[in-house]
Amino acid sequence: MSDDLERAGGGAADTAAARRAHMVERQLVERGIRDPDVLDAMRAVPRHLFVPDDLQHAAYDDSPLPIGFGQTISQPYMVACMTELLRVNVRSRVLDVGAGSGYQTAVLAELAGEVLALERIAALEEQARERLERMGYDNVSVRLGDGSQGWPERAPFDGIMVAAAAPEAPPPLIEQLAEGGRLVIPLGDAHRDQILTVYERRAGDFIIEQALRCRFVPLIAAAAGMTKVGPGEGERLEADGDGGDEDPGPWEEVGP
Ligand code: SAH
Repeated sequence: MSDDLERAGGGAADTAAARRAHMVERQLVERGIRDPDVLDAMRAVPRHLFVPDDLQHAAYDDSPLPIGFGQTISQPYMVACMTELLRVNVRSRVLDVGAGSGYQTAVLAELAGEVLALERIAALEEQARERLERMGYDNVSVRLGDGSQGWPERAPFDGIMVAAAAPEAPPPLIEQLAEGGRLVIPLGDAHRDQILTVYERRAGDFIIEQALRCRFVPLIAAAAGMTKVGPGEGERLEADGDGGDEDPGPWEEVGP
């Protein structure tokens, strides 16, 4: 298993750490990511343990990578950017929508007090849950479910991160934001560039900020009418613009 690479200690782990340090300098610092805690988290999480074995060599490349089922692990820069925008700290409880490989969940778990993550594809959810547990992240809960509904039993959240694009911010996510909490979500059409958008709840109102252009797989909502993007379209789009080249597997619908 790929875990051996990091667990082996000595050479392999040192090499991975060196590749991460290089990734952080070249891809993040030079492009303007400033938050020292975010940079530390990106240095700490072994990204190579979140990609398929045959893509280990590319784990620290400046790109998204396919993780199966037509989904992708986001580009490191995008993960860092979204994490910086979320502004979480040890007192924060965070919801991560679209856990995928679990990589973004791990980065958030380095910073936040508690991270709850939702994923709609059962095989990915199980893999992410077991992987994060094995790696010792004990402040994380991963669950199978439709993230567009949020996690009402555990709301409110100081931060909500969405790794899939929607035409508009799903109302349940906005409702589950704590006072001062921030929602980071790519908004737009699945076939075009989207705008990474931040909603911050302030005294019953919302401050909305458009951060940058991006490209994500679509948010597939189980509840009819939540999104205009169907699974058929989603299968053809890869997160962040490129990456996946494999046949998407069957879509698993999660009940509303
Ligand atoms: N953050 C992930 C990126 C995964 S890509 C990582 O670091 O690897 C986006 C993920 O969102 C996919 O795994 C996809 O299955 C999931 N997704 C799409 N719509 C969803 C929904 N309504 N609820 C939960 N997960 C969803």
